[in-house]
Amino acid sequence: MIPFENTWPYEIIQQDIYVNECPFCSESNVLLPIKKKDLPELSRGVKRLLVFPCCHNRVTLMDADRDYLLAKQPLRNRR
Ligand SMILES: [Zn+2]
Repeated sequence: MIPFENTWPYEIIQQDIYVNECPFCSESNVLLPIKKKDLPELSRGVKRLLVFPCCHNRVTLMDADRDYLLAKQPLRNRR
């Protein structure tokens, strides 16, 4: 069971994955280095390192559903 703090909403635009806001540096409309085709693998539980292109912060993705990416570490309320 992954806590809500570890989730972050994403959007699919064509084959690309965006976040409205980076959880680390608050950059807006960040294009992530994963693709729509990578999501089924994630949701099967294949872990993946995600490096945010804006600030180079790294998270380990554990899962994804239709709306949220699920990370190993908290993405919300980190302060
Ligand atoms: Zn960032």
